[in-house]
Amino acid sequence: MATLTGISTCTVTACSFNTEQNCNAGAITVAGSPDHAECGTFIALDVRGGLPTAAAHVGACQRVECSHNSDLLCTADSVTIGAGADTADCLSYSPA
Ligand code: SF4
Repeated sequence: MATLTGISTCTVTACSFNTEQNCNAGAITVAGSPDHAECGTFIALDVRGGLPTAAAHVGACQRVECSHNSDLLCTADSVTIGAGADTADCLSYSPA
């Protein structure tokens, strides 16, 4: 099985999965549109969610035009998530 790409840092502290700028979701889905790659897992609730320790990966990525995308998976060494066009974007997005 291919190794999933890790999330090196996520600065979206408003997200329920975020702890100290790390993502605690098991895996995220990156969605968005060709002008920006948005984290589809971002959610701001009054509760915290996810795993006890940060080990999040990109489970799926819908941005097929990104140079790191292969078979709807991410092949980058790691990705950074933060504010972009939306509250939570993949800042490693690199449209081919
Ligand atoms: S770097 Fe590209 S392929 Fe990887 S998650 Fe971000 S937008 Fe998707």
